[in-house]
Amino acid sequence: MSNSEEKLISVKNLNFKYHTEFILKNINFDILKGRNVAILGRNGGGKSTLVKVLLNFLKKNSGEIKFFIDKDKIGYLPQIREFDSSFPINIFDLVISGLTNRKNLFRPFNKDEKKKAENLLKEFGISHLKNKLISEVSGGQLQRALIARALVSSPEIIFLDEPESFLDKEFEFKLFEKIKQLSSSTLVIISHELEKIYNYVDSIFIVEGSIKVYKDKKDYYRDENAIIHRH
Ligand code: ATP
Ligand code: MG
Repeated sequence: MSNSEEKLISVKNLNFKYHTEFILKNINFDILKGRNVAILGRNGGGKSTLVKVLLNFLKKNSGEIKFFIDKDKIGYLPQIREFDSSFPINIFDLVISGLTNRKNLFRPFNKDEKKKAENLLKEFGISHLKNKLISEVSGGQLQRALIARALVSSPEIIFLDEPESFLDKEFEFKLFEKIKQLSSSTLVIISHELEKIYNYVDSIFIVEGSIKVYKDKKDYYRDENAIIHRH
């Protein structure tokens, strides 16, 4: 964690709706290099939607999203229930697919890239599953592979949508230490369990239609209106 003020992403007056009702209203924030962010908020508040709009999986209705980094340098762990695990791909190919982008979907991978994917499989305790189809592994095993996939490109920034889903206590406990050890990425973590990620974040964003930004996570605890999210 550094004190630099280098912006990775800047969002201004962002609005988004699926149908008639705006889900994201006048969203403003910056994400700074090395300043990890927790995104909290009620179910249906728009957290997953916000990340999908940032990554351009959903088209914003208005506002500005500026990236100061290469779009290939972004890692993403989707919320697991939105991930289609019936797709016929094995665990190794899933992990290494984190190296592809829209331009080079079917390129072959070189030795170093394969080694990197192998190493992540090992670090996440799923090497023995590398040839299994993703429909043949457990929820937690798939979640580990999806986290490895988000890390494999050594991204500048990683969006993790509820990373603790399905993980056993032991693995969950060491997850963020592992991520820190394996990458120097800035993290944006969506979670319902602040106490589990508190030590790994610098800022807290509450997303419930609009956004409330606490640049310093301590200010969240000083804000008496934030009480509903306290654990
Ligand atoms: P959770 O904590 O439950 O994951 P969330 O904050 O991630 O919630 P979103 O998944 O972003 O919430 O959903 C925000 C709102 O948008 C919800 O009211 C949801 O019903 C609605 N929504 C989500 N996906 C779609 C969709 N594909 N089409 C229409 N409405 C949607
Ligand atoms: Mg969500």
